[in-house]
Amino acid sequence: MHRKRPTDGKANLLTNGACFGCTIACGRISRMDPGHFSVKDKPQYHGASGGVEYEAAWALGAANGVSDLEALTYANFLCNEHGFDPISFGATSARPWSSTSWESSRRSRSASSYGSDPWRRW
Ligand code: SF4
Repeated sequence: MHRKRPTDGKANLLTNGACFGCTIACGRISRMDPGHFSVKDKPQYHGASGGVEYEAAWALGAANGVSDLEALTYANFLCNEHGFDPISFGATSARPWSSTSWESSRRSRSASSYGSDPWRRW
């Protein structure tokens, strides 16, 4: 998050924020790349705002197979604006995807590794 972007030479993360006395400081203040496809025509998103915290980064990102930090930041902005909890939203949108992926993975494993034994589940 601190790494400078090649497009504008700035980092997504501007600073951290913390509740009083907390050493974790999970709060993030971020600024999106104004040239990113998601916001290039939306100047209202070009300023600093709440960034992706670690729980939201997992839910919106890793759980959904998304590694584009700018896209995650935009999704996080949208969740916050529309009253969605980004963690719940990301986990909910990831569920069908991960379930399908898990199910197809299980089927291909059982077909290729375990032959036709109907009693063997794994
Ligand atoms: S982890 Fe984050 S939300 Fe929890 S107390 Fe620390 S700064 Fe506040």
